[in-house]
Formats: sequence, structure tokens, C-alpha cells
Amino acid sequence: MPDPEFKSCIIIGAGPAGMTAALYLNRFHREVTVLDAGNSRARWIPQTHNCPGFPDGLSGCELLERLRTQAEQYGTKVTQATASRLEHVDGGYRVTDTQGGQYYGRTVLLATGVEDVLPPEPWAEEAINCGAMRLCVICDGYEVSDDDLAVFGSLRTAFEHAKFMRTYSATVTLVQSDNEQVDTQLQQSAKDLGIALMKKPHDLRFDGQRCGFIDTLGKRRDFDTIYPVLGSRSQATLAIALGASVDEENKLVVTEKQMTSIDGLYAIGDVVSALSQISVAVGHAAVAATAIHNVLPRNPR
Ligand SMILES: Cc1cc2nc3c(=O)[nH]c(=O)nc-3n(C[C@H](O)[C@H](O)[C@H](O)COP(=O)(O)OP(=O)(O)OC[C@H]3O[C@@H](n4cnc5c(N)ncnc54)[C@H](O)[C@@H]3O)c2cc1C
Repeated sequence: MPDPEFKSCIIIGAGPAGMTAALYLNRFHREVTVLDAGNSRARWIPQTHNCPGFPDGLSGCELLERLRTQAEQYGTKVTQATASRLEHVDGGYRVTDTQGGQYYGRTVLLATGVEDVLPPEPWAEEAINCGAMRLCVICDGYEVSDDDLAVFGSLRTAFEHAKFMRTYSATVTLVQSDNEQVDTQLQQSAKDLGIALMKKPHDLRFDGQRCGFIDTLGKRRDFDTIYPVLGSRSQATLAIALGASVDEENKLVVTEKQMTSIDGLYAIGDVVSALSQISVAVGHAAVAATAIHNVLPRNPR
């Protein structure tokens, strides 16, 4: 069998993090392979207003398209594939996809993000599209300032989020997704902070415009916006299988150059133990791509 052709880097994931890294590496005259399963969280952003440089906002899908167009101008090609195995081989790494395709790289950059846990309702994505349900208060809390807001999750987690949400509105209700008993201390704190408490409701509804809950007495309470805080699943399994260090949420721990605890394996964006934001993801990408360029043998013209 002929020797495999090693690219400078295999980038797994083509969200904002992966596409920015591809752009940088191609502009360093490096050849990369980009594999993507096509499920960027950014596709769910109806309109982002905190993405620097877009004063009128833009949708997540448009952002992804723009990032791809920009990287393609410098030679990036995205292969639609799901990476299922990552191994060390002589000279670098081999990545295998679910169809058996194999890719070789001197380095690997994981930009695989996280997967949000949504309420298991068939209308969940529709409610996100119209802003009745939102997932990230840092992203879009400003847009719902002074609205009637609910945060839905387990008592302790949701309470922390409810406190944060008071920055945006005086009307914040914590709706429990669990049955934990509210102790007197939490009850008092909620009262002091102006956070209303609702016991685990019977049902969660969406009428095409707003979400609401049916409480334990059968009464319906609608909100302008609800924020479920049911957690997320980190997409770090490929790195974990190689023994990479992770935090308590299974997010990858990296150095200041974005390298994981495994030599030559870098990670950027939401899959990393850091704030999950587009501007953070693209910042990580610039740092990692430059570090990768600098550790590889020089490529003079
Ligand atoms: C509703 C919503 C609104 C948001 N609003 C904002 C906002 O206004 N501002 C902001 O800054 N952030 C916002 N965010 C967060 C933002 O979307 C993320 O921070 C950003 O998308 C992270 O980029 P990423 O490239 O790390 O991950 P992602 O964009 O999630 O991309 C990861 C990619 O990796 C692929 N992948 C995963 N595993 C594999 C595999 N094994 N093989 C191949 N490919 C794989 C996925 O399919 C995906 O395409 C929002 C998120 C949501 C859900």
C-alpha cells in the first residue's frame, strides 16, 4: 500500500470555530482536510446581535455560509462526513469516518462543539426559530429585556440562571423540571432577588408564538420567552478515547495555544472548557491555527 498523504491538519467540525481555523491555515499555505457532520449549533440562531462587525445582526445560517465562502476562496473544501475514530499513526494521526473513509494529518483540530439538550417536544425547533424558546441568555438576553421570562431546569441549576437573567428583566420565573423540595433558604433568596418559583408543571405547550406551562392545578401560564437549561452533550468523545483531559462537563481542557493534553491534538470552540460564544470560537481558531503552523516544519515559498 502506498504511503498515505498527510495533510497539515485534519479539522473536525465546520462551525464558526472549524471554518475560521481552515481559513487561517489555508492562508498560511497549509493543506487541510475539513470533515463535518452538518449540525452546527449556529444553524439555530434566528438572528445574532452580538457577533462583532454585524451591526444589523445576521442569522446563524447566513454566518455559516459567509464563513464557508470566505474559507473556500483560499482552497478549503468541506467533506460531509462524521468522524468516528481518531488514532495515532507514524507521522501524525488517522481519522476514520462512519463510512470507512480515512484521512491522515500531522495534527488534528477538534471543533466539534456541543449538542443542546432540548425539551423532547416535536415543536422545539419551531419555538427556537420564532424566539419563544431561547437557549443562551448571554447570546440574546438583551433582545428580551423587560419581557416576562421563564427559566426551566433542575432547581439549583435554574436558580443560578434565573439570578443571571435578572440583569435583563424584573419578571423572571424559575420553573422546575425536577421535584427537589425548595428549602427555606432558597425560598428566601428567590424572594429577595424577585424570582418567582413554579413547581414542576404537568405540561409544556407552544401555540405557535409563545410557550407556556400547565401548572399542577391545571392552570396555564404563558411566557414571552422560556430558556430551558437542561444541559448539553460535549462532542469530545474522539479525544476522550485517546485519553485527553476534560472538565466536569466533559469539555476539553487546553493550553493557552489550544492544545489538549495529547500532543498534536488541538481543540477550539464550544467543545473546549470555555465560554460558548462565536467570538470565543473564532478567537480560539486564530490561536490554534497559528500554533499549528508554527509547530509544523517550515513551508518557505
Ligand atoms: C439558539 C442558539 C442561539 C445562539 N446565539 C448566539 C449568539 O447570538 N451569539 C453567540 O456568540 N453565540 C450564540 N450561540 C452559540 C454559538 O452557536 C456557538 O458558540 C458556536 O456555534 C460554536 O461554534 P463551534 O464551531 O465551536 O461549534 P458548532 O457551531 O456547534 O459546530 C460544530 C460542528 O462540528 C460537527 N461535528 C461534531 N461532531 C463531529 C464528528 N464526529 N465528525 C464530523 N463533524 C462533527 C457538527 O456537526 C457541527 O457542524 C447560540 C447557540 C444557540 C443554540
